[in-house]
Amino acid sequence: MAPAVYQTFVSKTQLIILKDNQATIACPNSYLVDINKKRYLEFFKNALDNQTKTNNKINFIVQQPIKSPSNQPPSSPLLSYTPLTPTFTPSLHPQYTFDNFIVGNSNNYAYAAAQGIIQNPGVTHNPFFIWGGVGVGKTHLMQAIGHQLLKDHSQLKIKYFPAETFGNELISALKSKRMNYFKRKYRQLDCILVDDIQFIAGKEYIQEEFFHTFNALHMTGKQVILTSDRKPSHIDRLEDRLVSRFMGGLTVDIQLPDYEMRVAIINQKAEKKGINITPEAAQYISENIPSNIRDIEGRLQEISVLALTQKIKQIDLDFIKNSFNPTSNTPQSINTNPRHLISICAKHFGIKTGDLCGKSRKKELVTARHITAYLLLTESKLPLKQVGHLLGGRDHTSIMHARDKIHHQLSTNPQTKQLINQIISTL
Ligand code: ADP
Ligand code: MG
Repeated sequence: MAPAVYQTFVSKTQLIILKDNQATIACPNSYLVDINKKRYLEFFKNALDNQTKTNNKINFIVQQPIKSPSNQPPSSPLLSYTPLTPTFTPSLHPQYTFDNFIVGNSNNYAYAAAQGIIQNPGVTHNPFFIWGGVGVGKTHLMQAIGHQLLKDHSQLKIKYFPAETFGNELISALKSKRMNYFKRKYRQLDCILVDDIQFIAGKEYIQEEFFHTFNALHMTGKQVILTSDRKPSHIDRLEDRLVSRFMGGLTVDIQLPDYEMRVAIINQKAEKKGINITPEAAQYISENIPSNIRDIEGRLQEISVLALTQKIKQIDLDFIKNSFNPTSNTPQSINTNPRHLISICAKHFGIKTGDLCGKSRKKELVTARHITAYLLLTESKLPLKQVGHLLGGRDHTSIMHARDKIHHQLSTNPQTKQLINQIISTL
């Protein structure tokens, strides 16, 4: 079976029941049920019959495959009825390596810091705190460090876990009175990769236990790597002592990929999937999807499935233009009425229109006001003076200042661009 076909149709399925030679295989949607039934039944049957040395009947159903707790991809469906339970597992996703990691403007600083850790784990940057929006590659980078450390020092006890798993295990250890086991399990490690640490915020007991786990490891020179959707000081209801521990090493952020990086990612992912895509098609996708890397992968996946079903060998500009629906709105559908725009902005920032146009200089209000001013200028095409008037009788120079500020941010901070695109898409 061609790898691309396997990846698209088979890898997302999971064998969930195998009893009396009747196999039930879960597919995430009815499209996959149909196609697997029609085209690949023989493949499933042969594989299963070979494994079990009997003749099986196969039934496909629509059901989300069960995620394994450690964020790993589901194990091979054909092996899932005999689960292996090793006593210690790093829980690293096999694809999240440096080989598969593209370095560009948005992540080169984080990447360089990661290389420093690999040279000298526990010493160079400890803890190492990576933050950034959804799908920018925090988990991937963190696990790539894990993979590389294991490669260089196979004896190291490295473990990846989402902070949520830590919390859940702690609760069940408390219930079953196995706290000693729980403590040993985490404190014996040489390197912990803790994903989405913002999850523990506001949860008093989990924060307390994590604080002690962190100290036990950090004080003995063990490497701690953390990720979060924001920097430690911006995590709401995270205890001060944890904030200061998390900031005690190096804190880096990863931004959304810029245009060049998106092109590189599209090319790399297409190559991995065995998809032939022309440079113009890759550029077109990159221009029309100012988004995170997970979204890019999703879009590429849709395109490749479409190409496969239409038996198209090479994805070119024509094909993309016909099949690709950029997320941004077409100009005709944008309602640029100034009052409408102001109320949409207020809603977007979760504030009242009165406050948006009011006197307060609170930081959140000022940011929202600047963006609104920018959009009134660029989308509603109002003159500076009128924008000032609408935003609470402000002077035209302060509107000019707002415009320049957002203009500058647009070229330095991809998140501003995404924010503005989001607002425009709801107009
Ligand atoms: P985050 O943890 O920031 O939400 P992930 O690490 O889960 O994001 O990345 C989302 C997807 O994008 C993953 O499939 C990952 O492999 C891919 N990805 C992220 N960063 C890169 C990169 N620099 N190069 C290639 N693929 C990447
Ligand atoms: Mg992640």
